[in-house]
Amino acid sequence: MKKLVLIGGGHSHAIALKQWGINPLSDVKLTLITNVIKTPYSGMLPGYIAGFYSFDQCHINLQSLAQFSQAQFVLDQAINLDLENNIVICKNQASIPFDLLSIDIGSTPTTVTIPGATQYTIPLKPISEFLQYWHQLIDEIQQNYQQKIRLAIVGGGAGGVELAFNIHSRLTQIYQQANQPLNNIELHLIYQGKRLLADRPISLSQKVENLLRNRQIKLHFNETVSQIDQSQNQGKKIHCQSGFTLECDRIFWVTQASASPWVKKTELATDEKGFILVNHYLQSISHPQVFAAGDIATMVNNPRPKAGVFAVRQGQPLLNNLKRSLQDQPLKPFIPQQEFLILIGTGDQKAIASKGKLNLGSSSLLWRWKDYIDQKFMKQFPC
Ligand SMILES: Cc1cc2nc3c(=O)[nH]c(=O)nc-3n(C[C@H](O)[C@H](O)[C@H](O)COP(=O)(O)OP(=O)(O)OC[C@H]3O[C@@H](n4cnc5c(N)ncnc54)[C@H](O)[C@@H]3O)c2cc1C
Repeated sequence: MKKLVLIGGGHSHAIALKQWGINPLSDVKLTLITNVIKTPYSGMLPGYIAGFYSFDQCHINLQSLAQFSQAQFVLDQAINLDLENNIVICKNQASIPFDLLSIDIGSTPTTVTIPGATQYTIPLKPISEFLQYWHQLIDEIQQNYQQKIRLAIVGGGAGGVELAFNIHSRLTQIYQQANQPLNNIELHLIYQGKRLLADRPISLSQKVENLLRNRQIKLHFNETVSQIDQSQNQGKKIHCQSGFTLECDRIFWVTQASASPWVKKTELATDEKGFILVNHYLQSISHPQVFAAGDIATMVNNPRPKAGVFAVRQGQPLLNNLKRSLQDQPLKPFIPQQEFLILIGTGDQKAIASKGKLNLGSSSLLWRWKDYIDQKFMKQFPC
């Protein structure tokens, strides 16, 4: 019996597992190695932070999904690969052999090069850890409303922007319910570029910036964080290359995506950031027995931004090629689309839509559309 092993329950693997469960291959043993039981769906995560969704509404239960797909469920963290003997090395359990391997483990924000960033900031990924800090912060605020809370978000891409809108929204709700002054909330967004969402049209950046400013969120552009340390009053102090400094209580780190360091230790061909290089079959360019999808994969001939929308789109073609490979059939290429729609939730049950040069909103109608798409996506998975 051939062994197909999936590492990580990211968006592509969630779809592959679901489709495998509907139409499995006999004589193949499927195994999922995942370091979490419930994995977040990125489209609804900001809405969870704003308090619009429950935890279960925006998390895919990988254990139930594995059961549906009749896959062996291994709760562990992959930490290396032996590619000569085709073995996955895990943190806690015995090594897991494979004939065919697929990796969909996402990415993490880059912190390594900035002194103090690892020690004093809260990276958005792994999201499970980020959410623990977030819940802890909410508890602290609810125990001491009178105290001013100063938060900073570092990063001005779609993740940083959505986080700013939705953190602000949740804290505003909490302070309003407790009849506390909203000026106790101080939220900063620090970004090294000239404008937010720099890979999108300037009209979208301006719209988003105006909305953030209307909510008294302080924007700091052209600021490159060079160091973070502890301030005298137990807070954290951000130092930027320009000489600008900012004291705050929590720093959320949402900068450019980087790859998990263990991937670089394997013999897989990677790009300069450590992402696995794959061809248009989503197959490693160095090891044909390994496939990769989602943020961790970089398609050599069709590179695209690290976004959930591509991870979702890769799910079905990935599964098709895994099946073809197991059956010794020719693989089929997958070319991702060039332009893609983003729907940015603005924290007030409204959303902005952007595709190519066009952008619309923010509007309640777009939020309802986004909500419909996201809930429909989640409904396909077992609870
Ligand atoms: C706040 C925020 C909002 C975002 N909003 C959007 C959006 O609206 N639209 C959009 O397109 N993108 C969005 N993104 C980007 C999106 O989150 C990612 O591109 C997407 O999650 C990548 O999916 P993935 O399948 O690569 O991996 P992920 O969804 O990150 O999943 C990887 C899984 O692998 C597991 N894993 C990791 N390492 C290991 C290991 N060693 N062993 C076993 N398991 C492991 C993880 O726990 C996780 O379950 C957002 C990101 C953030 C931070």
